[in-house]
Amino acid sequence: MNIPSFKSSQWTIEQADNLYGVNHWGGDYFSINSCGDVVINNPHDGDVHPISIMKIIEGMQDRELQMPVLLRFENILDQSISKLNETFQQVINKVGYQNKYQGVYPIKVNQQAQIVEEIAQFGARYNHGFEVGSKAEMIAALSTIEATDSLIICNGYKDQEFIELGLEAIKLGYKCFFVIETLTELPIIVERSQALNIRPHLGVRAKMTSQISGHWGATSGERSVFGLNSNQLIKAVDYLKQHAMLDCLELLHCHLGSQIPNIRDIRGGVVEACRYYADLCNEGAALAYIDLGGGLAVDYTGRQSASGQSRNYSLTEYCEDIVDTIKATLDQQGLPHPVIVTESGRATVAYTSVLLFNVLDVVDFEPESLPQASDNEHQLLKNMREIFTYMKPQRVQECYNDAQYYRDEVRELFKRGQIDLRMRSVAETLYFSILHEIKNTLATMERMPQELAGLADSLADIYYGNFSLFQSLPDSWAIDQLFPIVPIHRLNEEPTRRAMLADITCDCDGKIEKFVVDQKVEKTLPLHSVEQDQEYYLGVFLVGAYQETLGDLHNLFGDTNVVSVRLNADSSFEFVKEVHGDTIEDVLSYVEYQPHEIKTRFRNKVEAAVREGKISARERQHMIKTFNASMQGYTYYEKEEAETQQNSQNVRAIS
Ligand SMILES: *Cc1c(COP(=O)(O)O)cnc(C)c1O
Repeated sequence: MNIPSFKSSQWTIEQADNLYGVNHWGGDYFSINSCGDVVINNPHDGDVHPISIMKIIEGMQDRELQMPVLLRFENILDQSISKLNETFQQVINKVGYQNKYQGVYPIKVNQQAQIVEEIAQFGARYNHGFEVGSKAEMIAALSTIEATDSLIICNGYKDQEFIELGLEAIKLGYKCFFVIETLTELPIIVERSQALNIRPHLGVRAKMTSQISGHWGATSGERSVFGLNSNQLIKAVDYLKQHAMLDCLELLHCHLGSQIPNIRDIRGGVVEACRYYADLCNEGAALAYIDLGGGLAVDYTGRQSASGQSRNYSLTEYCEDIVDTIKATLDQQGLPHPVIVTESGRATVAYTSVLLFNVLDVVDFEPESLPQASDNEHQLLKNMREIFTYMKPQRVQECYNDAQYYRDEVRELFKRGQIDLRMRSVAETLYFSILHEIKNTLATMERMPQELAGLADSLADIYYGNFSLFQSLPDSWAIDQLFPIVPIHRLNEEPTRRAMLADITCDCDGKIEKFVVDQKVEKTLPLHSVEQDQEYYLGVFLVGAYQETLGDLHNLFGDTNVVSVRLNADSSFEFVKEVHGDTIEDVLSYVEYQPHEIKTRFRNKVEAAVREGKISARERQHMIKTFNASMQGYTYYEKEEAETQQNSQNVRAIS
């Protein structure tokens, strides 16, 4: 669908920047260069060194890495850990807080080995540790953690094995905390510690009653399934006292929820946490750590608002609110300042990954030229043609109603066998042309009839992207999560089309119809027109948190290729890691096929065909080769060089 256009010469990079909001959600990391490419900025010694993502895509092509690709920037991960730690430190210095900040990364947010290893390595200088919620995550943390002063915080339900793993970590010198989430695990922890003769580090998770807005609000409040209520907290204290272990209770844990958009909710939650902290101290617990969990939000829409997919605060404000509130509340009670722990996951990893894909096909709903009227044309078709004669703003609703009515009549007659397919085709073409006329008429009107408000969107193009929503953007499907989506190149050209995106699964839910455009949420995204043979690349940004392992094998599209890039100070970059995505053989084995058996069965089939004289032995050999090559191939749409040419010839032959 065309959008009203300015002359292309007037189109500026600034307009593209505002349209796609890169300057709003991109933080210091992403912007657009004068050639119209999206660049990643690599600040170094007070200078920025932008690198075009198109340059990185060229590097992938040279290495025969096919789209879709999940592109990770190690530098961004490093920078977000530095920023979090250093901002807390600055605020602590500024307000004279008498203790330190020590963060942990919750592994569930992105468990991929590369990410966890990079955080362990880079985070060591800040003693940045891990939060784990299962035995598997515990093992991942223990095997990668570098600094022994870093914390390992164990949440979730813990069985004996989990507890023994943690106690062994303590023996190795790690600061491993068990956070008690239910009273049932308390006796096991006490019994195991005594049996192994190890003093555990204990925490309690308090159930928060502060109500939080945003999608994840339900994690907090009375109905939260996590944590101990005040009655249970007292029971835990008494139990530990009885077993002479109250001095092991060193940490209070409060997780308000994820993606908290409103800073006021964070402040409110911290006040409540401090009240628990102070009273547990008064009960005799040796508290020295206050862990505020996750919640630091990512501004996916770039709107800086208190709505769900945004946030109305900066990192500095977040740190100030936490440090100030703890200091003020505990000073009043005359209690020493604890170590401040947070478990930021989303904000730590969201920026590091970008999903890149190419557009495979575009379907537009442009009207074709009107079919010639024949002399004995059916009255219904004549009526439809007539509509063009009274198309004007005052009668636009009437035109729409009429078109709708005649089209439905034609469909009805077709069903009853009274008109043929050819006539129905003429009617549908007329109908489309009328809708386009209506759309053009509406564009001239100040106020449009309510019923017609969605008409323009319904005529938008469909761009088919080489990716699976279910594998790569599960939250877009499951919880309507918005991610910034931007063409990676051609941003110096005005985008003249409006489109929704469809993926290559054959599921009608495999589509994106919600975009942030010009600071508003819209159903269609402005895009550039794509010629045959032309590659067009789109990037889905801020996908580093929660997307990679939640994804599934819908239609058996597997993991995408993953490329990790490190940017150097001189504007060069290195491909530090490449992980090839799943092959067809891989995904089939995930769903319990035996690749070896599949190949044997296919071989038997073609051999039988040779016996029956359907194919020659030579043809058999070719078929087996092709079959085996497919088994080794990528699950996504692979473009062969020859195919691109062949396609364009075919298209020419049809038109
Ligand atoms: C999920 C989770 C986090 C991470 O929250 P983010 O909002 O992603 O930072 C932290 N702590 C706990 C206990 C969690 O369950």
